[in-house]
Amino acid sequence: MHWRFSYRRYRLPFRRPLRTAHGEWREREGVYVRLEDAAGMARYGEAAPIPWFGTETADEIEAACRGLGPNLDGEAIAKLPPGLGRLRSALASALAERAAVPRTAVLPIAALLPAGRAALAAAAAPLEAGFRVFKWKVGVTDVADELVILDDLCAVLPASAKLRLDANGAWDRRSAERWLTRCADRPVEFVEQPIAPGARGADDLLLGLAADYPTALALDESLVGDGDIERWLGLGWPGVFIVKPALLADLPAAVARLAAARSSVVFSAALETALGAQTALRAAFLWTGEPRASGFGVWPMFVDSRFDGPAAVPFLRWEEVERIDPEALWNALS
Ligand code: MG
Repeated sequence: MHWRFSYRRYRLPFRRPLRTAHGEWREREGVYVRLEDAAGMARYGEAAPIPWFGTETADEIEAACRGLGPNLDGEAIAKLPPGLGRLRSALASALAERAAVPRTAVLPIAALLPAGRAALAAAAAPLEAGFRVFKWKVGVTDVADELVILDDLCAVLPASAKLRLDANGAWDRRSAERWLTRCADRPVEFVEQPIAPGARGADDLLLGLAADYPTALALDESLVGDGDIERWLGLGWPGVFIVKPALLADLPAAVARLAAARSSVVFSAALETALGAQTALRAAFLWTGEPRASGFGVWPMFVDSRFDGPAAVPFLRWEEVERIDPEALWNALS
């Protein structure tokens, strides 16, 4: 197969800068790709890298696209270096067969709570809206202070609610042990990335904590690409895999491996635009394993709302996802 290939770079400011372990993140950068077949049929994909997560940069993706030239075949795609996983992901999603999802299918979504004491007041609106799974960012202030807020938060949430904690790799062993001791008899669904992937002995420490405490642990920052999922499956990771489809070069293969291993999976946004969100959400809707609320409650997020994925609701209908028009998004970048 041969395709006419084109690409467009985007740089989209966030409504509010995001606080990350690597400082403020103000704008989303990425690249849209377009592949047109001999019949004139065009397909689109989004490369949404997160360089501070360990992926290639938007500059590197743009340079690779320039190098590919205006005519593309499967061989040229296969020859792309493995480090360009997010570009591979975009091309693969443009070319993928699209499995049908029933229009009325629904996907539960987790509500995001801000860090610190602000989480208490912020929980009221999503509770009222019907959200039952909440994610709270921890590891931001003093451990003792946050443990007090944890109890206040547990008191605010009804018994039917589930609370996820996301440490974004902020803890050392001692802090993690303190937290996990406290979580043992609290309604905490899981704790995301207690230890940074780059910390000394991180893999052993994560496996040890997962074995020693009853609360499930989830890997997020530890999973930058397909190889990491393979590696953690090999290590027998007993916890949850946070899967960001935008980061995976071969999404169908990774999902099949996780399903075969009967892994616990939570699908999540990589703060991509609606184009990539459609691909990521399709994978979440099609997941046949244990259903868990997904991490797609991030939009609206961009100053230019045309690029936002579906707005956060407790139960997202496929109808809302199907409505996303890749061609309109491509044209919006011209
Ligand atoms: Mg996370």
